[in-house]
Amino acid sequence: MGNAVSVLRRTWAEISLDAVARNYGAVRARIGDGCRLLATVKADAYGHGAVALARLLRELGADFFGVASLDEALELRRAGIETPILILGFTPADLAPVLIEHDLAQTVFDGETARALARASAGCARPLSVHLKVDTGMSRLGLVWRGPETLPALTALCRLPHLRFEGLFTHLPVSEAANDPETGAQIAALSLIRDALAAEGVRIPICHCANSGAVIQYPKARFDMVRAGLLLYGLTPEAGLAGRMDLTPAMRLCSVVSQVKTIDRGAAVSYGRTFRAPAAMRVAVVAAGYADGYPRALSGRAHVWIAGRRAPVLGHVCMDMMIVDVSDVPGVRTGDPVVLFGPELSVDELAALSGTISYELICSVGRRVPRVYLRAGAEVDRVNYLLGGEE
Ligand SMILES: *Cc1c(COP(=O)(O)O)cnc(C)c1O
Repeated sequence: MGNAVSVLRRTWAEISLDAVARNYGAVRARIGDGCRLLATVKADAYGHGAVALARLLRELGADFFGVASLDEALELRRAGIETPILILGFTPADLAPVLIEHDLAQTVFDGETARALARASAGCARPLSVHLKVDTGMSRLGLVWRGPETLPALTALCRLPHLRFEGLFTHLPVSEAANDPETGAQIAALSLIRDALAAEGVRIPICHCANSGAVIQYPKARFDMVRAGLLLYGLTPEAGLAGRMDLTPAMRLCSVVSQVKTIDRGAAVSYGRTFRAPAAMRVAVVAAGYADGYPRALSGRAHVWIAGRRAPVLGHVCMDMMIVDVSDVPGVRTGDPVVLFGPELSVDELAALSGTISYELICSVGRRVPRVYLRAGAEVDRVNYLLGGEE
């Protein structure tokens, strides 16, 4: 601290650690004590900062962390996080020794890559921990399940040497919809696979399936562990599910007013001149743009929150700035705070307006946006990716 640059308030993301803790508690209460919780912290914890969030979630009792790649896993290990980590994506087989060295569990999803991982693990001190992923209906990563005829292939995989089959899982593409028959069939398929493998003497300790949508809609999908991401950050996969659990959005994307001025009737606003003032109006230039993660698709459509009121976005959102109408917000001045989204202005609303999902908005918060961590409303930590992480 004490560095003028490091305390710059331009655009920043406030992350409420209290909100994450409450959300974690709500998920725990819902799944019960017998079920493990894998906290999905891939993509920098959905933009919230993987290291800071993993530290908190470890403290709260998360059993596992889920990441997309080896690099994301190593970031956590380098920060001293010793909690079990599952890499949900692909890792080339020649990196098996790195996985073993850092005690990382790897997803396996077909014979060829599993055999390659087994071969590459042969000379290591320990077997490689793996979770077998079965594709029961998403056509993404996973061994394609075609019914019981697929069982011999699964059993053969599980008997490969140098691999320790710690987990068995599948993924649900439509878990947010209640009573979806295909989701029900996927859950039943995973159950059948687990039981059939057990009958062959292959007992895999951790069977898992539920993402956030399923935590709300499909109690039967819980098995031994759930993989929850979005709920921990205080959002639901569909806005309509928000009332089903007591969640608090953890992130508030904030900016400041750079300039306030009156423009004349007919004045063009922003690139492309897509908006012209119908009459003289008060506008504020806000110090955030699409490079900070505020979608350009919100140009002329959304509102920001200034001094307790909604101010419409005028014309195109630029890379680093945007212009808003503050004619109805009295007394706005340079330096005043602006909320782009957060508890007072829902990310679900902005996602709908920009034709995307809340996941994409929170993940897109830019690298130049410092993450400011709050407990009881006070800053306890700050990460500035440009200036070298934590201060
Ligand atoms: C990202 C991811 C999750 C978490 O999804 P949420 O909807 O955020 O809970 C779970 N499982 C897999 C395989 C994932 O890739």
